[in-house]
Amino acid sequence: MKTYDVRSDTVTRPGPGMRKAMAEAEVGDDVYGEDPTVNKLQDMASELTGTEASLFVSSGSMGNLIPISLQCGKGNEFLIEAHGHSVQHELAGVAALAGSLPIMVAAPKGILSPALLEPWIQPDIYYCAHTRLVVLENSHNAAGGTVYPPAALKEIRAFTRKRNLSVHIDGARLFNAAAASRTDAKTICASADSVTFCLSKGLGAPVGAMLCGRKELIAEARRVRKMLGGGMRQAGIIAAAGIVALDKMIDRIREDHDNAARLAKGIARIDGLSIDLARVQTNIVYFDITAKGRGGEEFAQQLGARGIRVLSVAPARLRAVTHYGITADDIDQAISTLTDVMRMDRQPVPPQS
Ligand SMILES: *Cc1c(COP(=O)(O)O)cnc(C)c1O
Repeated sequence: MKTYDVRSDTVTRPGPGMRKAMAEAEVGDDVYGEDPTVNKLQDMASELTGTEASLFVSSGSMGNLIPISLQCGKGNEFLIEAHGHSVQHELAGVAALAGSLPIMVAAPKGILSPALLEPWIQPDIYYCAHTRLVVLENSHNAAGGTVYPPAALKEIRAFTRKRNLSVHIDGARLFNAAAASRTDAKTICASADSVTFCLSKGLGAPVGAMLCGRKELIAEARRVRKMLGGGMRQAGIIAAAGIVALDKMIDRIREDHDNAARLAKGIARIDGLSIDLARVQTNIVYFDITAKGRGGEEFAQQLGARGIRVLSVAPARLRAVTHYGITADDIDQAISTLTDVMRMDRQPVPPQS
């Protein structure tokens, strides 16, 4: 039985091309800035994002923590959508390590706007902390992989300039966002002071994320990375996979979106499941079980027993994320398995005696 793991796009494993590049990577000591492969990866990231400089960090979490620490800092506030990854799924690192206070702003489909942000900016009064930073998540994971329209980003940028706030984009899935909003990474990044994107999600590398921004910011980020224990020596071995990811994987990301849309439409047709199709804009598919009598955990187990691994995220809510290695045929197979498993749920209840 072929099994499909669509719990996340982090489950992708490096293929032969990536492994070969890793094995053959030229390396040096990256803490001295002397690993040519890491340097090449950083240059590629800067080129793709249109930024002055980039830093290879061990994870997306570190790639968010460092710029929040530098651009918000201790005792100051930053604004973030209430379901944002940095406040929900990164261990309160912004409080524990950056010493920053997140102000959580709920936004429809996770997409913030000047009108939503404005009321939360602290006035200049002696008993209020300073608001320093806005964090935007693009695509927004918990909201369903939703994306900022390019015009909305520009509006926020104009607004934050006026209010003297920095902008960090948590672009763990930056290239998904770019593909879905019909723009490029550069255009998205032009609306931010710093951007983080993951190599280890849809791009398929085994480890790592890139933090990109102005030269001075990245120079400071290098210091904080070292403080956090993230200075890695012959990191070219893993950076080599990142180079292959940037070379080969960006253009195919649309396939994942097509497959997610295909899955979502299939789910919409299954009795007992419900889905908000308007939120399925990239490679993430959240859906709910509306039929009585079975929870998400149990449904996930039943699917797992039939070779499809999905993530149970709430009592009656599941998540599937499409990625490299999942084909349109796999999606059709998954839809028919979901249909079968839901039918099992609808056995007529025997009459009570
Ligand atoms: C996965 C993810 C991160 C963190 O990445 P890790 O590499 O798992 O630390 C940050 N932001 C978003 C939106 C994510 O989906």
